[in-house]
Amino acid sequence: MGQQELYQRKPWVCQVCNRLTLGHTVFIIRGCKTVQLLSHELRHVHQYEQFGSIAAFLPVYLAQIVEVGYANAAFEVDARSHEVRNF
Ligand SMILES: [Zn+2]
Repeated sequence: MGQQELYQRKPWVCQVCNRLTLGHTVFIIRGCKTVQLLSHELRHVHQYEQFGSIAAFLPVYLAQIVEVGYANAAFEVDARSHEVRNF
């Protein structure tokens, strides 16, 4: 099963390594924490801060997912482009 297919099964939770960011809180399943994953989720925190609230951010984020799918949503593309793989 490819990454794209995994993303499409549950659009808001990555099936490769479950994590979720809500506002300033990042939830990561024990054993899955990596620099790459954490940097991706912190970019979502930055995106949320740009909107000023979850109430402002979430409708835009979810609309992107509905329109083009999780993997192609602009916020996801942006977060992946800011992933740090090594220090
Ligand atoms: Zn993401």
